[in-house]
Amino acid sequence: MCKKIVYVDNAATTPVSEECYKAMEPFFKEHFANPSSIYSIAHTTKNALEKARATAAECLNALPEEIYFTSCGSESNNWALYSTAHLQKKLHNKNRIITTNFEHHSILNCCKNLSRQGFDVTFLPVDREGLISAHQIEQAIDEKTALVSVMTANNEIGTIQPIAEIGKICLENNIPLHTDAVQAVGHVAIDVQAQKLSLLSLSGHKIGAPKGIGLLWVKKNLPLQNLIFGGAQENQKRAGTENVAFAVGLATCLKRATSNIEARENKIKKMQTFLLDGVLRSIPKVKVNGSLEHRLSSNLNFSFAGIEGESILLMLDSYGICASSGSACTSHSLDPSHVLLAIGLEHELAHGSLRISLSENNTMQEMEHILNCLPKVVERLRQISPIWK
Ligand code: PLP
Repeated sequence: MCKKIVYVDNAATTPVSEECYKAMEPFFKEHFANPSSIYSIAHTTKNALEKARATAAECLNALPEEIYFTSCGSESNNWALYSTAHLQKKLHNKNRIITTNFEHHSILNCCKNLSRQGFDVTFLPVDREGLISAHQIEQAIDEKTALVSVMTANNEIGTIQPIAEIGKICLENNIPLHTDAVQAVGHVAIDVQAQKLSLLSLSGHKIGAPKGIGLLWVKKNLPLQNLIFGGAQENQKRAGTENVAFAVGLATCLKRATSNIEARENKIKKMQTFLLDGVLRSIPKVKVNGSLEHRLSSNLNFSFAGIEGESILLMLDSYGICASSGSACTSHSLDPSHVLLAIGLEHELAHGSLRISLSENNTMQEMEHILNCLPKVVERLRQISPIWK
């Protein structure tokens, strides 16, 4: 008999939605033409691409010419940082970058590389709740600051940063603000104008589009370096024949993700509350990581004293439950999560963490299944743990 799968790792990736699949399908077959060709059937693909760009722009309160399709969130983050850092240095002799110590690795490692290239990077600490304040940014910036990059929502603990407040400070000081909104989109309203942003990164596969498509929004008039030299695609900044099907898929999912946020969030929040209450009631010595107040309703991150996160995952898997400890990118590493260390967790607790990330496709029955299994898993692992007292 086939085991029922309870998928609660939506921050790692999501399945392609039916709506997205249907929207993309024609562009694999009948509308296959290269959008740069001049015959009439290519107009259909070109129009679809530009419609997708316009839709994506509308979802963010941006302009279509400010949208650049990329292959993923990591590419968008790298492009945003390298381009802005190097151009700010070249044009304004500014070489300082301010970010936080708990960004996604596609920001952290990019910043580490920029520091090897001579940039002065400040990794601001988040507090024990996993939050950074606009005041901290204000204190840190100076006349050499080329760029500030702060994620909208954290991928491991789901905490939501005060981006609009940070944006106001950056604007007053004429410093571009980049935000990695990969985890936030669909849960938090995004408005690049109201939030006073200059650059924003998104990824398709977190919102029901396929892996292999992302987007970088760059405010008009902010200089942008070429990412790939070649043809004239993506406003001559990123050459390569466009992936029209995936761009259409991303726009379809972004439209859905940015409409009816409240109704969807209410449904997810109910599951989050149910699960949280159940875990706290049934499992001793558990810590919830990160602020509960400023948090994505889709995220729960627990630390269980005395046991390893990886063992929890393996035992949950035997019950058909797919969750994670830390982010998907670090789950093959034995190092504790840099996010959990950044919020001050001791190594032992950081090793015993479990991230559950929900979507609207989850159900209350699935939450009940998790609550039936998780306490047994934790109890069993503690019985055999040499460090559990
Ligand atoms: N930023 C955040 C916050 C993420 O969670 C992820 C992926 O997990 C990324 C960036 C990278 O996105 P992608 O997998 O599309 O490269």
